[in-house]
Amino acid sequence: MSTSIGLGLPASPPPVLAPRRKTRQLMVGNVGVGSDHPISVQSMTTTKTHDINATLQQIAQLTAAGCDIVRVACPKTIDAEALPIIAKKSPIPVIADIHFQPKYIFSAIDAGCAAVRVNPGNIKEFDGRVKEVAKAAGDAGIPIRIGVNGGSLDKRILDKYHGKATPEALVESALWEAGLFEEHGFGDIKISVKHSDPVLMVEAYRQLAEQCDYPLHLGVTEAGPKFMGTIKSSVAFGALLSQGIGDTIRVSLSADPVEEIKVGDQILQSMNLRPRKLEIVSCPSCGRAQVDVYKLAEEVTAGLEGMEFPLRVAVMGCVVNGPGEARDADLGVASGNGKGQIFVKGEVIKTVPESQIVQTLIEEALRIAEEQGLEEIEGTKAEVKVTQ
Ligand code: SF4
Repeated sequence: MSTSIGLGLPASPPPVLAPRRKTRQLMVGNVGVGSDHPISVQSMTTTKTHDINATLQQIAQLTAAGCDIVRVACPKTIDAEALPIIAKKSPIPVIADIHFQPKYIFSAIDAGCAAVRVNPGNIKEFDGRVKEVAKAAGDAGIPIRIGVNGGSLDKRILDKYHGKATPEALVESALWEAGLFEEHGFGDIKISVKHSDPVLMVEAYRQLAEQCDYPLHLGVTEAGPKFMGTIKSSVAFGALLSQGIGDTIRVSLSADPVEEIKVGDQILQSMNLRPRKLEIVSCPSCGRAQVDVYKLAEEVTAGLEGMEFPLRVAVMGCVVNGPGEARDADLGVASGNGKGQIFVKGEVIKTVPESQIVQTLIEEALRIAEEQGLEEIEGTKAEVKVTQ
């Protein structure tokens, strides 16, 4: 029997599909944005921004779900007036989202927001105000996101492209505005070129990535309700992230914004762009299943929800293929004849009645987490012993 001794060597990072595209670096509050920093997940509050308590409450929920940066709308003067308190009390950086009214850009900067998002397509006479905006943002030391959107493209560009928000049109609009900022010596710029069609969106970001070194904020705009929006965002982000493109992401859903964070976090985890936490590997069920796999998988997922420890848990509907199919899992169950075989790393460690499967899996998950934690401590001790 061999005994393994931890030498304290860091584990090699899990493989990714492509290295990150090199970008210039920005700071949005205390969150670094760009290729030297992890990809961050954003969302946007759905409260009336002037309802300060409700907005801060939602920001707290988003923060708890893992949101890195939050955006708030600023359509009216009362919303602009609420920004100083929100920016001060929010636990995560706040970006003010400005459409139509250039005066709110300056209010947001004065309020201490960590960044401002502007949509040059719908801010009146924006080009003429760029110098002032660049100076105000530069003096405050905050970045600007140029957020171009297929649904509100600059009319001049839209006319040039015969009324169609093509990828080329989105890119041209974004780079045109970025160029105006650069003329005034301002380069702390992040860009998004969102479109509701994932194919056009992917193509726009690909073209943009080739033509500049600005960090890119990914989004499929108006992606739809939870199911459809999740799929559209996942395929589009997957296509871009697999090429190293994307520095911040926002999954737009017609749903509670906490769901956006959960989906965004899971997309990054699935691509090894964030450390994986709990992963449920459950079979799709088939004619061999001897248990309600869907219900069992849901109960196990709910029972283990919130676990921060990286753990792969397999839920299999039968003992024929179950353990074999889940050999790579840390822990799992294969059900049959009213019982569940609980296995760890493919080895059956016990058999329990069906009613105790979920409870047993939770107990075993906690035991494994604790043991792995202890192993790390032992590994540290072993390292000390070896080096002395
Ligand atoms: S584990 Fe069993 S029940 Fe599930 S899909 Fe495979 S064979 Fe079917």
